[in-house]
Amino acid sequence: MPQEPRAVGDDPGDEFVFLALGGVGEIGMNCYLYGIGPASARQWLMIDLGITFPEGENDPGIDVILPDVRFIEAERSALAGIVLTHAHEDHFGALIDLWPRLRAPIYATPFTAALLKAKFVEFGGRQAPLPIREVALNSRFTVGPFDLELIAVAHSIPEPNAIAVRTRLGTALHTGDWKLDATPGVGPPTDASRLVALGQEGVTAMVCDSTNALREGRSPSERDVAQALAAIIKGAKRRVAVTIFASNIARIRAVADAARGAGRQLVVAGRAMHRMIQVSMATGYLPADFKYHDQGHISYLAPDEVVVLCTGSQGEPRAAVARIAEGEHPDIALADGDLMIFSSRTIPGNERGVGRIQNRLIDLGCELITDSDALMHVTGHPRRDELQEMYAWVRPRMAIPVHGEARHLAAHAKLARAAGVGEVLSIRNGDIVRLAPGAGAVIDEAPVGRLFRDGELLVGSEEGPVRERRALAAAGIVIVGLLRSRRGEIGPEAEIVLDGVPAADGQGTPMLELVRDAVEGTIAGIPRDRRRDGELVREAVRRAVRSAVEDAWGKRPIAKVLLIKG
Ligand SMILES: [Zn+2]
Ligand SMILES: [Zn+2]
Repeated sequence: MPQEPRAVGDDPGDEFVFLALGGVGEIGMNCYLYGIGPASARQWLMIDLGITFPEGENDPGIDVILPDVRFIEAERSALAGIVLTHAHEDHFGALIDLWPRLRAPIYATPFTAALLKAKFVEFGGRQAPLPIREVALNSRFTVGPFDLELIAVAHSIPEPNAIAVRTRLGTALHTGDWKLDATPGVGPPTDASRLVALGQEGVTAMVCDSTNALREGRSPSERDVAQALAAIIKGAKRRVAVTIFASNIARIRAVADAARGAGRQLVVAGRAMHRMIQVSMATGYLPADFKYHDQGHISYLAPDEVVVLCTGSQGEPRAAVARIAEGEHPDIALADGDLMIFSSRTIPGNERGVGRIQNRLIDLGCELITDSDALMHVTGHPRRDELQEMYAWVRPRMAIPVHGEARHLAAHAKLARAAGVGEVLSIRNGDIVRLAPGAGAVIDEAPVGRLFRDGELLVGSEEGPVRERRALAAAGIVIVGLLRSRRGEIGPEAEIVLDGVPAADGQGTPMLELVRDAVEGTIAGIPRDRRRDGELVREAVRRAVRSAVEDAWGKRPIAKVLLIKG
């Protein structure tokens, strides 16, 4: 709970604080701030700046959501830097769009930096290049007043890092996304000895991943998936296609190895997959001579000679799998007896899109294998036993669960208390938490929210255009054009356009006729001398049209009345 408001001049002095601009109460849009100094002169560090995706189809025309960063934008001269934990979209996907508002140096390890640069070349347009400072794995460096150490963890992309944030008032461990996996396929396992050493040094607060806090036990290893994939691909008779999260380079290796083991060639489909492979070859996560064919070469290969690796595991309508399923892919066609493997998990909110594609593939005669049939996917996040192990290593004074929906955060908080953590803070986006000195507490609140990427523009989620589109999508629009004579009088003749409104009512009367009657009747009912009052006529007609359509249809469309000079 917030404390009593402070009296003017009652500056509590030097404080170490934390807040989330996104990522708490949701899985996505991660953006965290650490601050040090008195409230009037704080220096800030940002960790991650990610996006999220809309759930369902409530926001027409919007496919990306970003955190509202106005709080730190207003203090950007005090923002010492932006450090990235890893290159997943929910952690770095908002950088290209929002960096111009922040203009702080960006710190990233080589793979994350290379991927950010590759994305910038593709999507950055005419922006000035981002000031990326590459930092080595396991390195220690300072950003303003913050002394940072990267600690290697395992996850589902190369180079995931936990970050130790050391300050004059204490140390926070920001875990980022992590799991325990002795054989992660790419990169080292989670660096337990550094975490134990940090725990011995003393950790004030641990800000930790909650994604799988409801799941018992431990997550299987990436190596188990590789073995399962190899066995299935070896047994296949005809074409095999595999869809994965493009950023899972260990999985790309596993599919490539499985293809080689079965005497098949790897074919790659989808731009994001090509970008990932190029960046991985350049940074050493795939061998420099990694062999694969572009999708255009598939026609030279017999069905039993090929494994196609494709994008679109989440049902994205323009990605390779969706186009293959619809029979619209320019190069790749799957048919009777071919095998499609979803080596992925369907993210909540995407079930319908993925289900539609899977139904279409079955209609084509494909055999389907998903993570409910075999071990085709493992999570990149810690289950309960892994979380417990982390708490035993780090033994923080305070725990702050993040990266989860409310139910994940609550389960994580309970687990942390049971693990012996004395202070467990359940917070929301925007809560400013004092980590030190003294007991942890929410001491203030920062403005937070969501921005929509709407075409090339960013708009607030509560601003007009998207709200209007929702209304349009629900009930269409009626446009009425009225002629205003030279003497200023508005006549009853109208031009009427209906869009998204049924053509006739239940009795077959054309809707156009009903609207015309409503317009003419309304204008006829206004005394002649008042028909010069444009606003009066416009409003009367607008109301009459909406209620006429509602009587006929049961829904009220948007209505617009235009006055045209004669
Ligand atoms: Zn991640
Ligand atoms: Zn994440």
